[in-house]
Parts: sequence; structure tokens; C-alpha cells
Amino acid sequence: MNKPIHSKELAASTPEQWQEYVADFRRAGHETVDWVANYFNSVAEMPVLARTKPGELFDALPVSAPGQGETYDAMLRDFDKLVMPAVTQWNHPRFFAYFACTGSAPAVLGEMLAAALNTNGLHWKTSPAVAELEQRTLDWLRQWLGLPGGDGKDAWFGIVYDTASTSSMHAIVCAREMVAPEARRQGSRGDLTVYTSEHSHSSIEKGAIAVGIGQDNVRKVPVDVNFAMRADALAKMIEDDKASGKRPACIVATIGTTSSTSIDPLATIVEIAEKHNVWVHVDAAYAGAAAILPEHRHILAGVERAHSLVFNAHKWLLTPIDLSAFYTRRPDILRRAFALTPDYLKTQDDPRAHNLMDYGVPLGHRFRALKLWFVMRYFGRERMEAILRSHIEWAQKFAALVDAQPGFERVAPAPFSVVCFRFKGSDQQNQAIQDKVNQSGRVFISGTVLNGKFVLRLAIGNLATQWKDVEEAWKLILKAAEL
Ligand code: PLP
Repeated sequence: MNKPIHSKELAASTPEQWQEYVADFRRAGHETVDWVANYFNSVAEMPVLARTKPGELFDALPVSAPGQGETYDAMLRDFDKLVMPAVTQWNHPRFFAYFACTGSAPAVLGEMLAAALNTNGLHWKTSPAVAELEQRTLDWLRQWLGLPGGDGKDAWFGIVYDTASTSSMHAIVCAREMVAPEARRQGSRGDLTVYTSEHSHSSIEKGAIAVGIGQDNVRKVPVDVNFAMRADALAKMIEDDKASGKRPACIVATIGTTSSTSIDPLATIVEIAEKHNVWVHVDAAYAGAAAILPEHRHILAGVERAHSLVFNAHKWLLTPIDLSAFYTRRPDILRRAFALTPDYLKTQDDPRAHNLMDYGVPLGHRFRALKLWFVMRYFGRERMEAILRSHIEWAQKFAALVDAQPGFERVAPAPFSVVCFRFKGSDQQNQAIQDKVNQSGRVFISGTVLNGKFVLRLAIGNLATQWKDVEEAWKLILKAAEL
């Protein structure tokens, strides 16, 4: 550990030097695992939000890389001293902002093994393990989510991408391929349209931009009082567009919108889509996890008639970023849209050998499924259900506290583990409450805008969170509001 192995020596490493390199890794590896275990034990006492100023870490780091190799000791020291203060603690039990994401212990170990193997699943042969473990793990997850399966023509095929933004962009390409197959060769003519609610995630619009459909061709469908897409408005927009020569290609329904976790009426949306032969993509990036619970399965009613769905294990399913599961019942279209094999990658066809490079933009394919496989096996369905249920139950208890406090009001239904609420005052007062709470270092909540007003938002979803943490957040909010 104390003796660095210089790159010069390693380039022509002798067996002895290799042994030393491995022994050095073993020592530092044990120390790093201890570091992680200590971190899991102490993260609750760290400030949730990094207290660093913009540029502080950048300025503290050397302006160029070392000429001579350094020791792990030196790296870990700098990691603690320089990097850690600039980390916002997503694993913190009182991280209540955005949607929580947990780097759970089994997933951390899965990531370590994936990095050690460094195996790249471009096509089946380059790593059968990547292709087949991913297929099996995504099939387990498909069953948990209640998506159609089996070997029939309507069985859903899953693939792992990095983020929901990438997954949804791929869905939009599928929609283009279904409705305007000439676009693969000729590009989009600017006549394709995409429909999504005013409350859907910005990634949908970005996807349409990236795919060449264009921002002007994204229709923002108005929402009802519960922030769910208005199906009547959707139907009218599609009809108007068709009448003016546009080709409606894709509807993106969100189950669990980012601001308020509202639920679009999927069953009605798929009916409208079928009438007009439009691809339906379901963005269940966060709330898909709730569908694992039998009592919440209904949120995906109609999904079997949709064409694709994205669910992020790296939101509520205790898996660290990045792991986005993309499912489609039309893998033939996904493949038609993307398969493009250069000579050096040609392989023999085998129906059981999936070449993952045929199903999307990236050629290289990381062994992400390994961490999800570890997570699903470690927690098992029953414990996972119990964790999700606790989060939903605590969100309901928190909503009841808000309802009982005359100085505050709730501004949206709370069907899952997120509560949107506001102090009955100005936007500035609510902003000030959020700032005060977050400056405490104990809690991190985020805000959003609903019905033109700034509102506070508390999202529960971390493995380490307990009810006492939610109570602490409420006390700090009341204190900040001087109530
Ligand atoms: N879709 C929804 C509903 C989201 O809430 C988010 C992020 O919070 C995304 C998509 C984007 O997720 P990602 O960061 O994986 O691209």
C-alpha cells in the first residue's frame, strides 16, 4: 500500500510485480470495504446537502495528473479530505428531495464485481453472462411489476439502459420506426408528433429533440385537477393534428409524474392510441416500484396494450444509479430501428443469443444487471414489498400531519411516497422554509411548482429512512415556518 507501483514498472511487470499489485489491491480493497461499512453507519450524521461552494473542489485538486503513480493511501486520504465534503448524501435517511435512490449494500458489491470483470456485452459472444443474466433478471423484475410474460407474441422484452431519459428516447425511436419506417434512412420529415402531459418529465421533450422529431412537435396535453393527463384533450389534439396532415407517432403516459406523482389514465390512453395506431410509452420511472405491491398493481391497468415502459431500479428499488429497465412488447421494432452491424461484429444468428448492441444506441453494454440481481436476491420480494409499504405508509402519516396543521395545506393527492404541500403564505415564504430546512444539514427537501405556486415536496424512498426521520423533517419545517 505504501509503495506505489510506477506505471513504468507495470508496463513490463514481472510476475513478482504483478503479485505485489494484487496484494496491494487486496489490502486497499479490504480497507475500502471497511470504509464503506463505516460510511453506512455514519451517513445519518453527515450533512445531507454538500456544504461546499461552487469551484471549491475543482480548485483544491491538482491541475494535472501525477507523472508517477501514487499509493492507495494517498488516494483514500484525498478522497476523505477533498471529495467527501463535496458529496450530497443520496444514501442519507433524511434525503427527502426529488426521488430518493439508495446504494444498498448488495448493489455496491455487485458493482464492484461488475467493475472487476469489466466484461462488455456488445453481442452475446463478447459476454454471454451479461446478455443472459440481464434477460433473466429483467424477467424476474417483469414478473414483480406484473407485465405480460411467457413465450407468446405479446411477451415483454427487457433491456437495461443507463437512465430513464435514454429509455424514453429509445421508445420515441420505436414510435418513429412503427409510424414512419422511412425515417431510419431519410430522417424525420417534421410531420411526426408526440403527446405527453404538461406534467411529464423533461426527458420526453429532450427525446423528441434528440430523435429529430422536434420540440415544436411535442404536444403538452393539459391535466385535470389531480395533475393527470386529460384523455379528452389528448383525443382532440390527435384528431386536430391528423386533420392538418401531421402523423401522430407516440403518446407518453406517466405513472407517477415527477412533481406530484400523478397517474395518467393509461387504460383510456391505450384505447385512443389503438384507434390511431400510435405507440404508447409508459414512464413509470419512479412509481413502477409501487406496482410490485398487489394493492397498487392497478396503477398499470392497461399496460398490456401499451408498447413500452420504463422503470428505474435506481429510484425506489434500492439500486444505485444507473439502472433503467426498458421493456417493450415489440422488440422486433426496437431491433429494426437500431440493428446495424459492422463487419467486424458479425456473428452467427441464434434465436437464444441476444446481441444487445442491436437494441439501442450504445454498442458497449455494462454488466449493470449484476447489481440488480444481487438486490433482488438479497431483499427478496417479501422484504422489498415491506420496505415499499413502509415508505407509502409514512408518506400517508406525514400527509395527515400536514392536513392537521392549519398553517399548511396539501396541494396534490399522495398516492405513493411523495407529499406535496405548502405553507399558507407567499411563494417567498415557502422558498424561505425550504432554504432554512435544507441549511440545517439534517434534512433535504425539494420544491416544485403546482398550479403556478411554489410548493414543498417530501419524497420518502431510502432504505435507511425510519419514521423518526420523517418526524424530524416535519418538526424542522414547522420551526422554519415559526409555527
Ligand atoms: N421520468 C420521470 C417520471 C422522472 O421523475 C425522472 C427523474 O426524476 C426521469 C424520467 C428521468 O430519470 P433519469 O435521471 O433516469 O433519466
